[in-house]
Amino acid sequence: MMSRHCSFCDATESEENPLIAGNGVYICKNCVFSAYKIMFGDEKQSSDTNKSELLEAVDNLMTPKELNNFLSDYIIGQEKARKLLSVAVYNHYKRIFKTHEVSDDDTEIAKSNVLLIGPTGSGKTLMAQTIARVLNVPIAITDATSLTEAGYVGEDVENILTKLIQAADGDVQRAEKGIVFIDEVDKVARMSENRSITRDVSGEGVQQALLKIIEGAEVNIPPKGGRKHPNQEFTTIDTKNILFICGGAFDGLEDILKRKQGDNILGFGHEKKTKDEQKPTYDMVEPDDLVSYGLIPELIGRLPIIASLQEISEEDMVRILVEPKNSLVKQYKKLFSIDGVDLSFEDEALKAIAAKSIKRKTGARGLRAILEENMIDIMYELPEYEGYEVLITKDVIENNQDPVYIKKSNQKIA
Ligand code: ADP
Repeated sequence: MMSRHCSFCDATESEENPLIAGNGVYICKNCVFSAYKIMFGDEKQSSDTNKSELLEAVDNLMTPKELNNFLSDYIIGQEKARKLLSVAVYNHYKRIFKTHEVSDDDTEIAKSNVLLIGPTGSGKTLMAQTIARVLNVPIAITDATSLTEAGYVGEDVENILTKLIQAADGDVQRAEKGIVFIDEVDKVARMSENRSITRDVSGEGVQQALLKIIEGAEVNIPPKGGRKHPNQEFTTIDTKNILFICGGAFDGLEDILKRKQGDNILGFGHEKKTKDEQKPTYDMVEPDDLVSYGLIPELIGRLPIIASLQEISEEDMVRILVEPKNSLVKQYKKLFSIDGVDLSFEDEALKAIAAKSIKRKTGARGLRAILEENMIDIMYELPEYEGYEVLITKDVIENNQDPVYIKKSNQKIA
């Protein structure tokens, strides 16, 4: 067979330099490279990749409704908080990706960082994680109380950002569009006359440190191995486009709300309200209340979206067990099915798990541990029950009894 040649450089076709055939012409790999360099140049190549990534992000920007829909596959209840978070996140990424389309004035859109107020185990962390997953952005989760322990605040703040860069597989540009979730910000509230908590460290320093990164700053991250290696270069990360979501239970905040409500009722001579109407809810929280709680006004100013989450009711606990896309019950069913066992739960058993979890006062977080405690013995013997159906009854949960094993009817007996 006659060998083929590149129509541009006349090189002979080879394994190292293969040809692409066109309409009666050929181009070799080397010429494709040269052509690419001439057309785009080395520099252009990388900026074009960024541009296309950016365009993709803009095109794929989900609407608040789509975001909320996605959240609702994983998060039970918390409708108000889901909605607020969806809008905040949409606005945030719109601000990063789309403002150049309308940049005909000097109006700068402020960042919509979010404060989630709700009891432990009500889904604050889960919400932040889920939103990061749907957006395909890196997320770093941290705890504000850990900042008080280490003493040297500056170093800790850097740690949050180091975590974020790690979550972005070392890609600083990606990290700069990521999410930082800081839990337990209520625990670094400074002591105020309104509350009497004992704490060794004043939370104000920590709040100031947080403020610095939340309001947007270029932060130098020491190289791996810390400051001991002065010769290695620092990584600089700009936090201006990072979305910060803070969370906290804010125990005792209702006292502040009650007092405020009381003042209003007295001050404006309202008619006497029913007991239920008088009960303050976290939906009523305003920035001032958080100042009374002990957060510094500058930090609250940087968290303009305040969303509150409700304590999980027993009914919702049951829903959490079964409904989310990756619910615990679905996970266990899958685990069992690998051994050829069908797993099911009586409604009363699910209620019993929910009731136990409520007693533990850890919100929905307790569900996994309770299930695990009850399933361990069953899973120990699981491989021996191939071809069976296992029914978890209320007695399994409440009295540690055995589940009901039923031989599946279509199963051939060996
Ligand atoms: P928080 O951050 O409010 O303390 P988490 O988000 O960490 O609570 O919740 C702990 C676990 O409980 C989650 O991983 C999830 O399995 C479950 N959970 C909590 N709230 C919900 C919810 N509203 N919907 C579904 N699962 C939830």
